[in-house]
Order: sequence, then structure tokens, then C-alpha cells
Amino acid sequence: MSEKRHIQILAPRLANQIAAGEVVERPASVVKELVENAIDAGSRRVEVELESGGARLIRVRDDGSGIAEDDLPLALSRHATSKILSLEELEGVASLGFRGEALASISSVSRLELVSNVDEDPRGGWRVVAEGRRMEPRVSPAPHPRGTSVTVRDLFFNTPARRNFLRTEKTEFGHVEEAFRRQALSRFDIGWMLRHNQKTLHQLPPGDDPVTRERRLGALLGKGFLENALHLDLEVGGLRLWGWVGLPTHSRAQADQQYFFVNGRVVRDRLVAHAIRQAYRDVLFHGRHPVFVLYLEVDPRVVDVNVHPTKHEVRFRDGRMVHDFLFSSLHRALAEARPGERDEAHG
Ligand code: ADP
Ligand code: MG
Repeated sequence: MSEKRHIQILAPRLANQIAAGEVVERPASVVKELVENAIDAGSRRVEVELESGGARLIRVRDDGSGIAEDDLPLALSRHATSKILSLEELEGVASLGFRGEALASISSVSRLELVSNVDEDPRGGWRVVAEGRRMEPRVSPAPHPRGTSVTVRDLFFNTPARRNFLRTEKTEFGHVEEAFRRQALSRFDIGWMLRHNQKTLHQLPPGDDPVTRERRLGALLGKGFLENALHLDLEVGGLRLWGWVGLPTHSRAQADQQYFFVNGRVVRDRLVAHAIRQAYRDVLFHGRHPVFVLYLEVDPRVVDVNVHPTKHEVRFRDGRMVHDFLFSSLHRALAEARPGERDEAHG
């Protein structure tokens, strides 16, 4: 580093690879982004398939709106999105994606193939492939039922440092399964499938009725979860909180069964965590963690989701009010859950 270099604009592919570092950390992050796209496309059914923990192959198939032929090359470009057009829309964004970054980032560090069809005729459909450094995506006809399939092969094949950073197949698949669990818990009205190395691990039918929901909870979290949880559903001043919270007697040594969704988006938020911890404070032993699957529904305009690229954080316009609502709802539910009253609370 002797001579001073001139300032230059990064080549687009390099810019994408740098951005990929923020969005694509491992196979699980690819699954998360592709599934979010499937959800945003209004899919009723989403299938996730992997080989070798996702390092070799990740495929997400959906039956959503599809992408029109003309839009296909754009879908893989950076800052190309169909989801928002203005700052105003950003402020009320209801879709999971909006940065237009995921497909560009993923395709810059993998061999990506996207096949899509906007029509009911399964003979229609178009394919676009992008391979690491290759700049121009090529579009060709390919039959596909209405919807989209994205296949990501050889993740990080052209960024060896990141490839080496991948852990064992089992560990990577564990992360993928966790991402899948969150997504499947976020939308009961969508049917889901997860397959790894030709083996089907989850087959979850859609349904917003209590029976289908509870069956799904059992499949994803184990039977013990529901047997030891309270169901709640409360609404105060435009805020709705519903879901399941574990009885204090069913706490865990690790905080590994905690799911909190804000308007369908999984969130890890300090304010939320604090409110829940406070609610359990007097009923849990020190060092134990509660289990919960909770859904907070608020007007999208009072919550900012554009805080972080992976969108796990949110910012509430009135954090104090949300905190107090969560705390008091849970505190009351737990206080009412004296032994013997569990079934009533559940009904
Ligand atoms: P974002 O989701 O932030 O818009 P992406 O890079 O994830 O950005 O996707 C770019 C665009 O490609 C989306 O805005 C959408 O129009 C289209 N797209 C991606 N995946 C799908 C899908 N599964 N079904 C329909 N359209 C999709
Ligand atoms: Mg997206």
C-alpha cells in the first residue's frame, strides 16, 4: 500500500458481494430471504428443499404471483423492488421485503436459477440464471406452474473465505430449520414443507382454525409446549396481542423457544424482551427462560421496520405504550394462571 489510490465507484458485482455480507451470512439467511419473497408474493404453499445443509443446494418453490418475463432480469438487480415506490410507502410498509437487495446479493455469491410463471398455464414460464461474477442474466422459456422456484447452488463458491466459515452440515441445517420454524409460525394460513437430503421433515397443512394451529405448534415445538402453555388474546387501544405463553413451571435453561412476531415479522427487540422478562420476573427462577409464541398486531404506521438489513429489529413510535401493554397483558395472564384454572384460561 505505497501509492495513494484514486477514489472509484465499486463495480456493481463487487458492490453486491459486499452487500451480500450483510444479508447473506449462511444458508439459513438465504432461506429466510427466499421465503420472505414467497410470502410477499401471496403464496398459499411454500416448499423448502436443501442438500448438504444448504451449502450444496437451496430451493424454495411457491405458488404466488410469479414474476413477469420483462421483470425477470430486474429481479436480480440491486435496489430493484416491486414493493415500494416512495418514502411514504416505506413508512407504512406491510411487505417483508422492500430493499430490493436479497436476490442481487444471493446471486453474486452463488449459482442462482429462478424460474417463474405469472399465468395458470404450466407451459408458460421463464428462467433466468446468474452465476457469481457473470453480469448479464439470461432469460429463456421454461415450463413452470404459476409461481416461482429459486434454486441456489454452491453458496459462496466464489468467496472462499466465507465458504470456509460455514459450519458442519448439521449445524447449518439446524439454523435453516430454525428459520423455517419462525416462518411457519408466522403464517398459519400458508402450507409448508421442509425437505433435507431427499427426506421430508415437515409437512404442515394450512389453516387458521385452532386445531390446525395447535397441530402445527406441536409439530414445530414438541407436544410439551402446548400442554404447558396458556392461550391469550387481548386487544387494547389498537394493539392486539395473542398467542401462547409457557407456564412458569415449563421454563427452559436456554432462551431457545421464544418467538415474537410484529405484524407477521419475526422480531428480536430489546424493549419487547424487557417487557416479557419483567412479566415473568416474580414467577421464574433466576437463570430460567420462559417459552412463548406471541403475535403483536399494530398499525404499520406506528412501527419502523427499516432499522437493520436483516430486519430483526423494529422501532415503535410509542415504545412506552407497547412495553406497558405487553407487560400488563402477560403479567395478568400469568397471575390468573393458578393451578387448576389452566383449561379455562385456554378456552
Ligand atoms: P425485495 O424483496 O426487497 O423487493 P428481492 O431482491 O428479495 O427484493 O426481490 C426483488 C423483487 O423480485 C421483488 O420485489 C419481487 O418483485 C420479485 N420477486 C422475488 N422473489 C419473488 C417470488 N418468489 N415471487 C414473486 N416475485 C418475486
Ligand atoms: Mg426480498
